[in-house]
Amino acid sequence: TPDIRPLVAGNWKMNGTRESLDQIKAIAEGLGPDLADAIDTLICPPATLLYVATALAESSPLAIGAQDCHERQSGAFTGDISATMIADCMASHVLVGHSERRTLHGESDETVRAKAEAAREAGLVRVICIGETEAERKAGSTLDVLGRQLAGSVPDGATADNTVIAYEPVWAIGTGLTPTVDDVAEAHAFIRAEMEKRFAGEGARMRLLYGGSVKPDNAAELLGVAHVDGALIGGASLKAADFLAICKAC
Ligand code: PEP
Repeated sequence: TPDIRPLVAGNWKMNGTRESLDQIKAIAEGLGPDLADAIDTLICPPATLLYVATALAESSPLAIGAQDCHERQSGAFTGDISATMIADCMASHVLVGHSERRTLHGESDETVRAKAEAAREAGLVRVICIGETEAERKAGSTLDVLGRQLAGSVPDGATADNTVIAYEPVWAIGTGLTPTVDDVAEAHAFIRAEMEKRFAGEGARMRLLYGGSVKPDNAAELLGVAHVDGALIGGASLKAADFLAICKAC
């Protein structure tokens, strides 16, 4: 198996005002040479803070990303933000297909794929999120759901450098519940096999993140699972101390 450099990513969701820029600064400054040598780090603040956040993180190892983008680069789409605009803010990454977008904004796999393609066009790394609901897990259809989401959401031509996959069981997001390490291992081995089937060596090197109630005290266990190449963190990424503790656990 190839040596994959881990990525620890934070998703602030609709949280954060100018005051929260202190946390970006604290994370950027808290990433000492040891952490910066070992892992990549990313924070996705709300779009209102994006441009200032990239300026704050500029001379640090911390990457800054957005939480969503539109599938078109410009036009009559009031309230939406394009990948071109995100890149123009000097950000390097964008989340697409987060479960809150899929559920609350009715985004289909087809939409997520179009957004992922738009992200690439603008030169952004896309973090494509997938995951089963509680009902799907109880019905025993987790791997079917993940297979369908991967096939539908991940564009052709994805590479290890331009694409990250985040496995986030919907029922584990923001709930304090986490799957067992065996369940995480099963899901990640499946995702790896699917990506290798489709993208060969690129799929073998593609980073696969686990997300869903990752905290400083469970991070080492979850991040120690085979084919878990980092984490996507919601709540625990809002405080620099928690985020940095997870980075250290990684
Ligand atoms: C997320 O929103 O991607 C997430 C994993 O949230 P939390 O860590 O709060 O469960």
